[in-house]
Amino acid sequence: MISSIVNLLYPPLCLVCGRRDELRDQVLCTTCLRKLKKRLPPFCVRCGRQLPGDPRIKASCDDCKKDTLYFDRAFSVFYYNGILKDLVHNFKYKKMTSLAQEFARLAVDFIKDHGIAKNTDMVLSIPMHSKRLFKREINPSHILAKAIAKKLRLDYSGRLLKKTKNTAAQSRLSRSERIENLKGSFSLRKNTRACVKNKKILIVDDLFTTGSTVNECARLLKEANADYVEVVTLARGDRVR
Ligand SMILES: [Zn+2]
Ligand SMILES: [Zn+2]
Repeated sequence: MISSIVNLLYPPLCLVCGRRDELRDQVLCTTCLRKLKKRLPPFCVRCGRQLPGDPRIKASCDDCKKDTLYFDRAFSVFYYNGILKDLVHNFKYKKMTSLAQEFARLAVDFIKDHGIAKNTDMVLSIPMHSKRLFKREINPSHILAKAIAKKLRLDYSGRLLKKTKNTAAQSRLSRSERIENLKGSFSLRKNTRACVKNKKILIVDDLFTTGSTVNECARLLKEANADYVEVVTLARGDRVR
């Protein structure tokens, strides 16, 4: 009620172009929404990497043929470029959390279009170390995963996994350094192993770079006898066809 009065007095502005028109319950206008490019198949059947060729191809990428993967399959909703890149930056670093609902809505459309999370029991996010969370104030993965779980009417748990080691930022590390950097940096909280046993789990995160973070979390879940681990990230910066 209060929010609808506020909207009437101060209609929201599109977060990208600042226009007031075409906005309904969204924070982006339809013109700007159209500029966000959802990823199109073919994808690697394991990690979701963009593959060239016919959209109906079912194949793995070269990395997935040599890496040990613990998650069963991963998808990313958007190509990490253009205005999406700016929006993700604002969401993560400028705490523009009003974007979470918009991102979640678009991610849920993608999830349904691609038959993801069909028999999922619970949604998890990637935890942040308490020191980093104190500094950054928000965990984008938690906000996004919670919003997606709510729209999918699934249970969300932000407490099963814990970041135990405050690892160096991953962005400047090579693929092998990232894997080394993450070893032993997450754990399952005490008495939570039974919660994941035989469960189908969806992990949600903001970005997929090498996949080493989600793979490390999936490894812990599989060690605790999780049945199936799917991953959905908002964006991935691989090659665009
Ligand atoms: Zn706009
Ligand atoms: Zn792959």
